[in-house]
Amino acid sequence: MEKITLEDILKALRNPPTEARKEVIAKAYNFAIEAHKGQKRRSGEDYVTHPFAVAKILAQIGMGGKTIAAGLLHDVPEDTAITLADVEKKFGSEIAAMVDGVTKLGKIKLRGSHEEYFLENLRKMILAMASDIRVVIIKLADRLHNMQTLDFNPADKQLRIARETMEVFAPIANRLGMGEIKVQLQDLSFKYLDPENFTLVKDLAEKNYKEREKYVNIAIAELEEEMKKEGVQFIKTDGRAKSIYSLFLKMQKHEMDIDRIYDLAAIRVIVPEVADCYETLGIVHKKYRPMIGRIKDYISLPKPNGYQSIHTTVFGPDGKILEVQIRTVKMDNEAEFGIAAHWIYSENKKKKNWRELLFKKKAPQPEKELEWVKQLREWQNEIGRDDEEFVQGLRIDFFKNHIFAFTPQGDIIDLPEESTPIDFAYAIHSEVGNHATGAKADGKMVPLDYQIRNGQVLEILTSKDRKLPNADWLKFVKTAVAKTHIKRELKKDTLSK
Ligand code: MN
Repeated sequence: MEKITLEDILKALRNPPTEARKEVIAKAYNFAIEAHKGQKRRSGEDYVTHPFAVAKILAQIGMGGKTIAAGLLHDVPEDTAITLADVEKKFGSEIAAMVDGVTKLGKIKLRGSHEEYFLENLRKMILAMASDIRVVIIKLADRLHNMQTLDFNPADKQLRIARETMEVFAPIANRLGMGEIKVQLQDLSFKYLDPENFTLVKDLAEKNYKEREKYVNIAIAELEEEMKKEGVQFIKTDGRAKSIYSLFLKMQKHEMDIDRIYDLAAIRVIVPEVADCYETLGIVHKKYRPMIGRIKDYISLPKPNGYQSIHTTVFGPDGKILEVQIRTVKMDNEAEFGIAAHWIYSENKKKKNWRELLFKKKAPQPEKELEWVKQLREWQNEIGRDDEEFVQGLRIDFFKNHIFAFTPQGDIIDLPEESTPIDFAYAIHSEVGNHATGAKADGKMVPLDYQIRNGQVLEILTSKDRKLPNADWLKFVKTAVAKTHIKRELKKDTLSK
């Protein structure tokens, strides 16, 4: 692994390298060196190479100085003698809160035998628990570098991490529209989860791509000339190889026959404005005959994660099949970096109070992440943003008054803040509530009026001997469901006497 210097991180910045930005990054860089002094990774490298790599990824995807600083510090409180309070004293509460968020997410681990179940819930949980979307983005960068260096771990750990990455982190990256990160996470996981198919598809793709490269280049030259003639501006045109994992999924659908995959080689045309996209589509179709039913207009109908582009499959040079993708610069950035792209090219225009807008909207339910991401995007578009101010606007406030607890089976239960085991019991089933006699939180006995904390596993002990809920429970339960059931049972009992 190459050694990453402070210079490398600053050079990777997609945002303007302002003095303030450079300063906070340099400060965190040096702090991380001191904090991790003497620590090594499994690879034998200095531990600090890991936060350096995370910081570089964050710079590349367009995050700001504070997020990069938090990336540099993300393992400090967990793995060194330096505490979160020290970080806060030195870097302020905003950066410290991000570091704390990443540390907390790191503590959610796969538990028990209900893995399938848990992975789905873990995904929701990560999105829900992070009070700041930047925490999730740092976590993704952290995971990406851990995947890049996974070779140095024992085989069973490799499999566990790869599986978690494939089923939890890649979908999160996808949901946030971060296509580039998603593809890397998927391909790296695939390599460990199914090495045989990975090698098979990779070799096939490379061989096939080389064969196609020649006419891809011819097509690029021809299209550029055509666009110049028509006076349509283009920013860049490039050939693109498909990700190994998505190629594998497609091949599976087609009896593993690579010749039936049309978009193995594709051209991407990047233009300034939306109108140019449609004009370019016209030019492409005039030059090459389109394949019927293969035109997809994700500009007028974006994918649920916000992806926008026009795709068309044509008979290119030599009559060979070729996919062409057409999109604007903004769409291209968003397709690669998703939500992170909004930190790039920040506009200083109309600064409205995002909080006002935010609270006017109805808070989405936690299970509707897609809605949630969509809303986030809408706000971003509506509001207009300047860098750091907008960043703060991305806090996921609608989860603020919620906590999430797990059943021992891994089910996630969404509760209002300060909920108790009785609320939890009634949220599972009225019978569980009615017969509750005790509770365990993370394996330890707790009183029934205990305040559940986010992320805890709750186990409710029941007994057939308990015939009725206790009237005292009404004094501490938080949810309407629990109240209603308790009152109803008690009333039934009075009436029957
Ligand atoms: Mn880490």
